[in-house]
Amino acid sequence: MHANQETPTCDRMHAARPLVQPSKACMTRVHSTVSRDGDGSMEETKRCIKCGEEKSLEYFRLTPAGNPLACCTVCHNINGRKYYAKHRERVLARVKARYRKTRETVQAYDRQRYREHREKWLARARVSIAVRKGDLTRGPCDKCGTTINIEGHHDDYSKPLEVRWLCSSHHKRFHAELRRRCKKGT
Ligand SMILES: [Zn+2]
Ligand SMILES: [Zn+2]
Ligand SMILES: [Zn+2]
Repeated sequence: MHANQETPTCDRMHAARPLVQPSKACMTRVHSTVSRDGDGSMEETKRCIKCGEEKSLEYFRLTPAGNPLACCTVCHNINGRKYYAKHRERVLARVKARYRKTRETVQAYDRQRYREHREKWLARARVSIAVRKGDLTRGPCDKCGTTINIEGHHDDYSKPLEVRWLCSSHHKRFHAELRRRCKKGT
């Protein structure tokens, strides 16, 4: 344990888990007062346990159950900053650990996808490079003749520059048709 890691305080609880259910004592202080506008409308207020100010309920974040927290958003934000200043390392370590975990899953997923679709990806990359270089021109859709949202379809990924041009919607339909045929085994 680090020397500067103090015992958990109320600050810590509120900062680390902002949406915890406040204790009963914190929740008892909601009351209605007549607003000072003079129109006689009622306004719900609550006294913040930190700054002690009586504020409109708009200044209190709600728990998932819909109850206002014990301290107002102003104090709440100050708490978060204080916690970060005090426990910077701990906060950063937690963020990093989360990042590392997702990154590993994402990379593993990408690698697998890459293996599975390597040929497809390479063929598509070759097409877009060829189009950019001017070696290949995007044609109109084979089915409807539009020139908008044109995609290249490969009948054979090992021949990357042999493409059939289809608009994105006809391309989707074409693949649906292929899948259907595939299932039937014809
Ligand atoms: Zn406050
Ligand atoms: Zn089309
Ligand atoms: Zn295709």
